[in-house]
Amino acid sequence: MMLNVKSLRVRAVEVPLNKPVEAHIGKFTKWPFICIDIHTNQSIVGRSYIAPYLSEYVSSIISSINALFQKFIDREINPYQFFKEGMQSISLLGYKGIALYALAALDIAFWDAKAKSAGIPLANYLGGSLKPIKAYNSRGLWLIPLKDIAKEAEQLIKEGDFKAIKLRIGRESFQEDIEALNSIKKNLGDSISIMSDFNQCYNLPDAIKRCSLLDEMNFYWFEEPIRFDDYDGCSKLSKMFKTPFIIGENFHGPVDAKTALVSNASSMIMPDLMRIGGVSGWLKTAAIAETFNIPVSTHLFPEVSAHLMSVTPTADWLEWVDWSNPLLKSEYRVKNGNIIIPDVPGVGIEWNEENLEKYSLQID
Ligand SMILES: [Mg+2]
Repeated sequence: MMLNVKSLRVRAVEVPLNKPVEAHIGKFTKWPFICIDIHTNQSIVGRSYIAPYLSEYVSSIISSINALFQKFIDREINPYQFFKEGMQSISLLGYKGIALYALAALDIAFWDAKAKSAGIPLANYLGGSLKPIKAYNSRGLWLIPLKDIAKEAEQLIKEGDFKAIKLRIGRESFQEDIEALNSIKKNLGDSISIMSDFNQCYNLPDAIKRCSLLDEMNFYWFEEPIRFDDYDGCSKLSKMFKTPFIIGENFHGPVDAKTALVSNASSMIMPDLMRIGGVSGWLKTAAIAETFNIPVSTHLFPEVSAHLMSVTPTADWLEWVDWSNPLLKSEYRVKNGNIIIPDVPGVGIEWNEENLEKYSLQID
């Protein structure tokens, strides 16, 4: 029997973060999510969530999701075809921004439904295996007081026997950044990989100064020292230092990834499941990255991203955060620094209905 789209349920929640996000982009104590259920003509329900950062924009994104969904009602679910049509239909809005987020939300749920109808995990449905996916713990080490860094790093490593963590840098003085890094190394030794994230805090001359001073410190990567879309500037920085450069969480759709890679803007990329256009957008981007032989890491959305890393030819690190755990009936397991993809049909996201109710975000 064909698997057809029937109806959509969209719910908005705002979940408290157990560690506030404190970065150059702002301080967040809560995180908004939009949770999607796509009901079909069978008992299968396709699920997804997106997390659009700014709770005050959630209602407009939900409107976009509802508008786009009308295109697909009563049709047989064919996610790749739907993505193509969805991109065509948002072209008047520029293929980017919240219309793309809306498409991503639906796309992920369509793929989930298809994998569920095949009775296998999404990774298998896409042709990959359920191998453990190596992950770094990204859910801490924000711009917190230096005295707290070593202890927090140790906790983050212990949480899942992680082998890598990410330190946010760009403090007042570069000595403070070095002190933060040294306090981790002193405590944990050199066997841990440490990523760094600047969250686009510098202009090009300042980034050159800072990166020069940090280039000998063995960071695994320098992430977004300057505006991500200054591809010329990124390309200059990327050539200048031996520490690899990475951008990608702000790519809106696969074409941004192509443009950045053609410009040699980065030696690694880290697409974000929502901004890249869901599963379909990710698959296209992974193929582009393979042709450039560029390592691909993930940004947020660890659950679906884990499945996708299984079929990403140049997969590198998955970014682990636990922010969505309150939404989930079963949390993904972390073992020996790896994310374990659950061996259940689809993505493995089922809602914790009680918490969806509890953290419900009231919107007009
Ligand atoms: Mg980042």
